Amino acid sequence: MGLNFILDELKSLREQALMRDYRTIESAQGPYIQIEGKSYLSFCSNNYLGLADHPKIKQAAITAINQYGWGTCASRLVAGNMLLHEELEKKIAEFKGTEAALLFPTGYMTNVGAICALAGREDIVIGDKLNHASIIDGCRQSGAIFRVYPHNDVSQLESLLLRSSTYRRRLVVTDSVFSMDGDTAPLPEIVEIAQKYDAIIMVDDAHATGVFGQHGKGMIEHYGLEGKIDIIMGSLSKAIGSIGGFIAGSKHLVNFLKNKARPFIYTTSLPPAACAASLAGLTLIQEDTSLIDKLWENIRYLKSQLSEFISNISGESPIVPVIIGTAEDALNLSTRLYENGILIPAIRPPTVPLGTSRLRISLMATHNKEDINRLISTLKDIGFLTHGNVKHLKEGYAQTDVG
Ligand SMILES: *Cc1c(COP(=O)(O)O)cnc(C)c1O
Repeated sequence: MGLNFILDELKSLREQALMRDYRTIESAQGPYIQIEGKSYLSFCSNNYLGLADHPKIKQAAITAINQYGWGTCASRLVAGNMLLHEELEKKIAEFKGTEAALLFPTGYMTNVGAICALAGREDIVIGDKLNHASIIDGCRQSGAIFRVYPHNDVSQLESLLLRSSTYRRRLVVTDSVFSMDGDTAPLPEIVEIAQKYDAIIMVDDAHATGVFGQHGKGMIEHYGLEGKIDIIMGSLSKAIGSIGGFIAGSKHLVNFLKNKARPFIYTTSLPPAACAASLAGLTLIQEDTSLIDKLWENIRYLKSQLSEFISNISGESPIVPVIIGTAEDALNLSTRLYENGILIPAIRPPTVPLGTSRLRISLMATHNKEDINRLISTLKDIGFLTHGNVKHLKEGYAQTDVG
């Protein structure tokens, strides 16, 4: 007995083409990365604005290390609260247009921490079927009743709210940009319904921060919903190119979470240099939106190129999924691309529903037209895209039952 079950489970994963492993990146994160000494064109990073390797951000981190050292060696509430944590929180609140903000070490911990603090056994959390795993884990851990509505189905959200008036608190939570489908939530409608039923509304703006809105402030700016979202969650580890998660909202909310969110309380605070990098990233976006413009130019170009071959390309964001079907087929296609020097890992269950394994193409502002042309011509060379044979790919969420 002992750990023998592990071998069986690994064997089963391998047989279903669901085994996962990582590659070793030997360079900085950019459009080109080095693996085993070879250069690969990468279309799989959340480094949407190319900031992870930006000279200003690297310099900000180096300066902070020289001034404050690296580690904090304490939680925020004990002795790990440093100047740069507070500066960054102030900056995030200003960026998101809220009274206050609270940092967490990661976006994952932010969702788990906030949801568990806000909802408990007497409460209900209602969320989109395709919400990020960290939201789902937060709901599960919270002990609250957890109900999902079909993807972006606002009328089903309303009927769940109609049937939930007996709970102490009702929390409605949705991604603003869905991480595996790249599509967006109908936030104005969701907010209206949540308000109608006096529910709390929480929006995960991880993929929209630094990408959507005229100044890159996210989906709330994009829709003009300032002041209407109770809880804005975001990540600093995508377009901002750094690390960390945050909640932006009222001063009272932040005070409450400081006292109640266990992933905030019981962990060491972020290194000050990480905060300095995030501060530099946010400043860069505020001063110059040209990287955001370039990103959207790339998104439009890729989608126009793909739509010559595929009739139903979804994705209204830097995430453009090409849904293949079986895990094996997606893996084979990914392998063929890799052999041709292009890195786009196959996304398979349980990350996406069974039968919707996909290539998930992510774009960066630092890609250029030639990079995108190379992707298209490689997809043609390996026989995936063929002219005169416009594909209608599988739909993502439509294939699955709603639990
Ligand atoms: C990436 C992501 C998170 C987690 O953020 P990290 O900072 O990577 O932990 C949360 N929600 C969504 C929608 C995400 O895509």
